[in-house]
Amino acid sequence: MKKKLPVIILSLLLVSLLILGGLLFFTYQQKVTKTKSENKTLQSNVSDLNTRLQEKEDFISGQTEYINELTTQLADCQNTVNSEDEDSDDKKNDTTSSYEKKYPDLYAGATFSDDNTSDLKVYLTFDDGPSDLTPQVLDLLDKYNAKATFFVVHTDNEEYTSYLKEIVDRGHTLALHSYSHDYNKIYKSVDAFLEDFNQVYNWVYEETGVRPTLFRFPGGSTNGKTAVVNDIIAEMERRGFIYYDWNVSSGDGSNLTTTENILENVCTNVGNFDQPVVLMHDGAGKNATFKALPTILKTLADEGYEFCSLDEHLTPVQYKRK
Ligand SMILES: [Zn+2]
Repeated sequence: MKKKLPVIILSLLLVSLLILGGLLFFTYQQKVTKTKSENKTLQSNVSDLNTRLQEKEDFISGQTEYINELTTQLADCQNTVNSEDEDSDDKKNDTTSSYEKKYPDLYAGATFSDDNTSDLKVYLTFDDGPSDLTPQVLDLLDKYNAKATFFVVHTDNEEYTSYLKEIVDRGHTLALHSYSHDYNKIYKSVDAFLEDFNQVYNWVYEETGVRPTLFRFPGGSTNGKTAVVNDIIAEMERRGFIYYDWNVSSGDGSNLTTTENILENVCTNVGNFDQPVVLMHDGAGKNATFKALPTILKTLADEGYEFCSLDEHLTPVQYKRK
């Protein structure tokens, strides 16, 4: 009996240890499972927040574009009032600048004529693409045998990039908007604008073999940066490029603009101009524009309008030239 006692104690001790170990292991497993599930929830929250952040960023970017568009219109009014002052300012510009020697291949040689026709023609223009909306816009335009003009912005997305060729192949005008679309960057100086423009020009040429002659300033030509834009215009025209503003805004620069607003803005204002150039956007998130487009096409087609693309032979719509 005396010999058996330590064995019993030892056995009890071992059993206790095993039970304790089991309990500890069970608790640990529970903690691991709980942590894993918490991690999963956190990851899903982070992903949701990222998506929402992206949506907010897209929204802000859309609003910024719209604000710039409004600034353009405001500046346009101010420019009309101050046109005489600006004329005298222009004369003070330097005759030669170092940037004139840059990018010797960046020449278009386009000149426009004043040969306007009286036919019912409307010029739809789409800024900020290519995006996932572009092929859908192209299909709609095809349906109405409509030609349009696309002022494109550089994208890293390969699929979107392939739409550049689609735009050309379907008979539309491929024009340039910007490489970075970053106002703070491109309107710093003529050099900064040229550097950005040369990049988007080369990108489009490499992708399509097309050398565009038309471009549109982000925010329009009267975007509040009057002094530098005047110099940029002079330099770009010296290189044979033609810039285009617009006279009918769909208002879709703002993401708050509804499909109904876009329809009304376009359809009621097109008739006010001999050569209506309509500003729209086919950039990411412009679903309201896409939804309005079929009715715009149908309404204007029923009114007898022909949808044409812009070319260098038309008199451009330019705020500074009005
Ligand atoms: Zn733009």
